[in-house]
Amino acid sequence: MRLFTTITALRCDLTVRKAQRPDGTVGFVPTLGNLHLGHLSLIRRAKLDNDIVVVSVFVNPLQFGPQEDFKQYPRTLEQDLKRCEETGVDVVFSPAPEILLGSSLLSSPTATPTSTLDLPTRTQVIPPQSMTDRLCGSARPGHFPGVTTIVAKLLNIVRPNRVYFGQKDAQQLAIIRRMVADLDWPVEVIACPIVRETSGLALSSRNRYLSPEQRQQAEALYRSLVRGEQIFNQGILSAAAIKQAVWSELSNVSVLKVDYVELVDPETLKPIQNIEEAGLLAVAAYIGSTRLIDNIVLRNRRPILAIDGPAGAGKSTVTRRLSEALGLMYLDTGAMYRAVTWLAMQSQVALQDEPAIAELVHQCQIDLVPQQDTLQVLINQQDVTEGIRSPEVTANVSTLAAQPAVRQALVKQQQSYGRKGGIVAEGRDIGTYVFPMRN
Ligand code: AMP
Repeated sequence: MRLFTTITALRCDLTVRKAQRPDGTVGFVPTLGNLHLGHLSLIRRAKLDNDIVVVSVFVNPLQFGPQEDFKQYPRTLEQDLKRCEETGVDVVFSPAPEILLGSSLLSSPTATPTSTLDLPTRTQVIPPQSMTDRLCGSARPGHFPGVTTIVAKLLNIVRPNRVYFGQKDAQQLAIIRRMVADLDWPVEVIACPIVRETSGLALSSRNRYLSPEQRQQAEALYRSLVRGEQIFNQGILSAAAIKQAVWSELSNVSVLKVDYVELVDPETLKPIQNIEEAGLLAVAAYIGSTRLIDNIVLRNRRPILAIDGPAGAGKSTVTRRLSEALGLMYLDTGAMYRAVTWLAMQSQVALQDEPAIAELVHQCQIDLVPQQDTLQVLINQQDVTEGIRSPEVTANVSTLAAQPAVRQALVKQQQSYGRKGGIVAEGRDIGTYVFPMRN
């Protein structure tokens, strides 16, 4: 593992690594450091998905308000490096603030600009106001522009294929997804589930500010969310009723100063009246001067289950049986790859011409229509159920399946099937829930 503190050295190292593994992918985990098991879960997922894993450790001054804990924020680089090394990280990037922000903006390395809006001489990335003027954004003006400005820089410096964020900071995750989509960044944003203590308390670097008694009191946050979930699981979809249940649980702990209890759309963060597809139930509260957040996603839809593992592990059999047992659609992702191969061959596009294939695949529509015993496969409304099983298609399908643009387009379509009715499928990429198999 190597540690870099300058942009030039990091870029230089990544250029060498990428030259050594031209097809290798880079996974990136941005952090403020003081790494705990929550961070490590992101790193482990990045390791599973990529050839090279980069972690940044940077206490970003721009995301702290003037009254916030920038100066006290725990800086534990040595311990962080040890944890990164043990988890198999390849590169740690830990620049001093002036490296990313310029010394003219910071009179001393620990000075805090009051907010990004006070940086008139620098370009900033400002997320849509509709996503920042609520939830944590109301109490922390300037926080999210501070996050996006630095994450944008880090993405430009590292240029990863995938970047990993915790669901713990659900608002941050939604805003970064929006930024990446709006600015057409060629990076996949991967969300990782919240890691909790057995008591339910979400792991957070700020938990160290809590006394043992306060820690116990803080457990009410998750308890309140579970209460909301119970109401939802009873079939109550009204935001008012669910939030009321959360409030009543929180009010049992008088020392908690609740900042908000909100139910919003997980993607747009707009408040919702009733949960149709999914709702993000989020809380923030102070215990003493420590501000804690937590959330849970309530899904009013059937799940996407993905079975992952090496060839020959029995994925297809398990996938089929599971779909029967659960009454979910069996999504034959292989048939989709075959369908685009068929289309490319019909269109007489050279199969190695990745840009031309990307153009073709991003404009095609594949429909999988369950019949009694089979799955009818349509591409651009043409029935290709039989055509895709030809030896010519079989011989060429792996060429297309290896192309990132093809995978990206098909995963998007696969997820949209899942959103409609719930599916079971093979492949790690598509799943909300991924079940690994071994040989
Ligand atoms: P931070 O260092 O607080 O900026 O966190 C770095 C990344 O770790 C962010 O994407 C967080 O959402 C994620 N993270 C922090 N705590 C947890 C947790 N308990 N479970 C999962 N991810 C987390």
